[in-house]
Amino acid sequence: MAVNFAVDLPQGTPMGKDHRKGMDVIRQSVVTCPRCGARAQREMPTDACIVVFECDSCRVVLRPKSGDCCIFCSFANVQCPPVQLRQGVNDAL
Ligand SMILES: [Zn+2]
Repeated sequence: MAVNFAVDLPQGTPMGKDHRKGMDVIRQSVVTCPRCGARAQREMPTDACIVVFECDSCRVVLRPKSGDCCIFCSFANVQCPPVQLRQGVNDAL
């Protein structure tokens, strides 16, 4: 005799992969050069981290500060998509 506790579980809940529950990731980020102050808007890839950035103005090559995963986290006004997602998850908890 089985007591069925599972009847109320939602059917077809997607596991893994495609659970982008309407969370918008900002793809455009404005990098501010710490050396000359020049700003450059760049589109961030969602599946990779940009770890080298050359300033259009003074040609300095930026690399992430220690602890940051990419130059957007260190020098831009918007952090990279993976960090945005991580923060979104943390905020929801
Ligand atoms: Zn610069």
